[in-house]
Amino acid sequence: MRGRVMQMPLLVSSLIEHAARVHGDREVVSRIMNGSIHRSTWGEVRDRSRRLAGALQGRGVGLTDRVATFAWNTHRHLEVYYAASGMGGICHTVNPRLHPTQLTYILNHAADRVLFLDPPFIPLVEAVVDQLESIEVYAVMCDSDELPESKLPGAIAYEDLLAEHDGDYEWPELDENTAAALCYTSGTTGHPKGALYSHRSTVLHAYGIISPDVFNLSRAASVMPIVPLFHASGWGLPYGAAAAGSKLVFPGAQLDPTSITELLRDEEVTHCAGVPSVFIPLLKHWRESGAKKPPELELMVIGGSAPARSLIESIEGEFEIEFRHAWGMTETSPLGSTNVLTPGERSMPPARRSEYHLKQGRPPFGVQLRIVDEDGEVLPNDGVAFGELQVRGPWVVDGYFADDTERLTSDGWFPTGDVATLDPDCNIRITDRTKDLIKSGGEWISSIDVENTAMGHPGITMAAVIGVPDEKWMERPILVAVPGTDPPPSDDSVLEHLGATLAKWQLPDRIIWVEALPMGATGKVQKTKLREEHAGG
Ligand code: AMP
Repeated sequence: MRGRVMQMPLLVSSLIEHAARVHGDREVVSRIMNGSIHRSTWGEVRDRSRRLAGALQGRGVGLTDRVATFAWNTHRHLEVYYAASGMGGICHTVNPRLHPTQLTYILNHAADRVLFLDPPFIPLVEAVVDQLESIEVYAVMCDSDELPESKLPGAIAYEDLLAEHDGDYEWPELDENTAAALCYTSGTTGHPKGALYSHRSTVLHAYGIISPDVFNLSRAASVMPIVPLFHASGWGLPYGAAAAGSKLVFPGAQLDPTSITELLRDEEVTHCAGVPSVFIPLLKHWRESGAKKPPELELMVIGGSAPARSLIESIEGEFEIEFRHAWGMTETSPLGSTNVLTPGERSMPPARRSEYHLKQGRPPFGVQLRIVDEDGEVLPNDGVAFGELQVRGPWVVDGYFADDTERLTSDGWFPTGDVATLDPDCNIRITDRTKDLIKSGGEWISSIDVENTAMGHPGITMAAVIGVPDEKWMERPILVAVPGTDPPPSDDSVLEHLGATLAKWQLPDRIIWVEALPMGATGKVQKTKLREEHAGG
């Protein structure tokens, strides 16, 4: 017997319609590219995203077409989120920090038809425009009179594109399992891979993130995603804030501590979220300038990399803001777990309390976790046994965009590549990664890519890249190499060689010349040994 309830698909358009209908006056505030503050509301975001959807449709963009963004966090980026998904297309957020060859690969692989970009990114796109195979519309996110001269064919100002439609646009009724958004991750080996979220997964994830143990969002909240909208949909905050009716505050391109502090204070931000490396300079700024913490700020949700104990202790002890540790991945939309302390744990002395905070926390309802050994046998949740963390849930991917490879285990779990222990209550402690990937300031560096490129240098016969702890970026790569010439090539020539195909921040901080690399029995470089020898700096 079926239950007697209505069938209503869970759609991204229903989020923006709800926000406009119920919380239409709640503000969406952005720092735009010229540094000034732009004020908008959920009602205006709905109206403008409908107009944009109509304009895109007028240009022939239709169901499942990919619409790429190359942009900082602003109201316009938010409008593209809703327009592209709401009309049945796929909003594809692209990370502008990648090397041009990686960008070209991603834009061509996704076969994007439209590219929305912020004016500062025009030169980056111009440099590869001849290699872009599918883009028909370049929409520069600016006013009509701000459109710079460029080599982008037919480039149009965002506001001119918007003006192509009168706004009388109705969202289509889609199947809730239709794809809505696409985000490539470099957190895997090989080429970047596209996590393809559905309308249903996006809406369920929005319910998940607004819940008390995650972001605890409500109409009363003013939330600032410092995490970029091109990192796993800004952790879902553009959708969650719409569901909850929270005020949304976007920092744009100005991520320096002074600008962030100003916005936090002026917009009475209560909640903010980002990777550890953005909070370290922020706290340092508060400490050194004698500026008090923005008075309304209650909660900092930090994830993407493991935060240092000193960071946690100063957030809670020095600045009296609640710290919440979160873990997740692009493939998990990204919410996988959060760590909320009980009153008993909170009342512990600071050092003991940060012990609790260092763990990545428990999964919210919907997400299930387990750890397995090398043979795939499930290990006990005893806080001692460690193995690969596997995950499943209604917002966890089961494969990648345009990729037929089976990614799940035979019994339907997604292997995360993280190594962890699980407590009896499913509290995670990440101890390592199975893949030799390095995460620097929230962005991935593939050690294999750097190694292969390094070995293309005529003066290098063998190379290994390891991540070493770094106070500012959490992890940084160093290159350990065996020279093929005597004397070894200069560091400058190696860096120049690497810089031809890798982004500047992906280059190693140090090059260490050795006679030989430590090899294991199976002929692989023993990176654990290298880390032991060199991680101390
Ligand atoms: P991404 O897909 O870029 O969001 O990266 C996901 C990966 O970042 C995870 O698989 C972890 O390796 C790492 N990560 C995310 N959150 C944390 C955390 N709180 N502590 C340690 N590592 C984390």
